[in-house]
Amino acid sequence: MTNFNLNQAQLSERLLLLQKLDLEYSNHKATQHRPNRETKLLNTIALLLSTGRPGDHFAAAFDKRQGLEVILAKNGTPTSEDIADAKELFSCLCNPEISNPRDLYPFVSRRCRASVLKRIQKLRASIVDTGFYNEFYSRLDQYPSARDLLSPDVIEQEFPEDEDAIEDEFVGMPLSVVLRDLLEGTIGVTSVSEVPNLDEFVDIHTLASTLGDSSFMQEWIIMREVGYQKAKRFQQCRQKLSRYIDDVHSLIRGAKRLGGVIKYRWVTDESLGIQAREEDIRIHAATPEEAAHRASVLSSQQLEELKERKPSLVEPWQRTVHSCIHAEIRIILHFGRVSMQGMSGRFQPIGLSKSSCLCCVLWIAAHNIRGGIWWQTRSRNKPDPTWAFTARACPNVQGLALATFDEKVISGVLRWLQLRYESGTEFRKDLYQIVEDDGALNADDLAVVVAAALTSTRKGDGKAIVYSVLGQ
Ligand SMILES: [Zn+2]
Repeated sequence: MTNFNLNQAQLSERLLLLQKLDLEYSNHKATQHRPNRETKLLNTIALLLSTGRPGDHFAAAFDKRQGLEVILAKNGTPTSEDIADAKELFSCLCNPEISNPRDLYPFVSRRCRASVLKRIQKLRASIVDTGFYNEFYSRLDQYPSARDLLSPDVIEQEFPEDEDAIEDEFVGMPLSVVLRDLLEGTIGVTSVSEVPNLDEFVDIHTLASTLGDSSFMQEWIIMREVGYQKAKRFQQCRQKLSRYIDDVHSLIRGAKRLGGVIKYRWVTDESLGIQAREEDIRIHAATPEEAAHRASVLSSQQLEELKERKPSLVEPWQRTVHSCIHAEIRIILHFGRVSMQGMSGRFQPIGLSKSSCLCCVLWIAAHNIRGGIWWQTRSRNKPDPTWAFTARACPNVQGLALATFDEKVISGVLRWLQLRYESGTEFRKDLYQIVEDDGALNADDLAVVVAAALTSTRKGDGKAIVYSVLGQ
């Protein structure tokens, strides 16, 4: 294996460069399967801890080895505010008087203030800034049942998810008027500069969800008719906002089912024995172009072409990066090398407040091929320059080849940089294959992967994993 120097400044510089290349990441999903119930609950815990402030990223996992415990982690070490708020959240979840998302909204509107506000503003922008508004009316003009007066039957057909809620209010009105009122109503209630109170928030959720669930909207997207991407963008924004009601509802129900006190624990610098804490990394290259030269993955001709496409590559750029061990990595380090005894399944989900970054995915892929648990996170493989090496920071973690995983990240980032340039937005290489690019799987690794695939709890996962590792 190549002897890499685990140079943090060099890695941060390459990640910054990848970020600067500003490629399209929306089609890159390392995880293709739908999240199961456990993953959804963990994602919701991470969502509720997330303030929306830059860099505030949280992860959660279940530790079932001795009863059930929720393990929490943050990018970097949690603050006293994080610790106090998590205590309040779990106390609310165990409180018999908290029975629905409305009861938890005082916590949400305080802790997640910036995030909630951002999502409301994005929802509004998806209507008024993207051209969706005009497309909506032109489609409505041509919609065959637009002039139908709403009877209970038509309501059932047009609003299958929300028929009970809207029946009284809208019976006898033309469908076009109702859909128009829902759209204009959503625009009205999302015009906010501060986080709304409970009633206002419920109004936003009700109006946007009723519109989003309507057959008018659903068919538009399914049939991929003119302007459907704008309609889809609206749907994505309203679904993200709805998580504070719908997903929180599922979490509260899940907590009730468990009954009693839910144990939880933070992964801290102290618990991991982290010695190199968060640090400000000085970037050596004065420009992205210099960083590209130093990375030596592109020929001079390729670099010239790139400069023509992106003139900003020669301009001065960010020179400092604040690096830390990312939340999902902290969760895995907390578990260490675990024998399968006491674990209910080899596949363990980690819930996240935002998708895993490129380095976390590469590190987890390297770990999974050799570790005891196959950790699953969602990802769009975006580069994040704040990613910190694990071997130097955590000398006390036993049983995991941290330096090897870190090395796989370095080689993976270089390969990613090269392949991204070569294939642009059409890039489809699997990250598991990149991890193995500088060394084929040995028989032991392969046996572990195949065993992992065969013990997968979900149909189809195993095959996909084997194929992805083998690069077929
Ligand atoms: Zn990460």
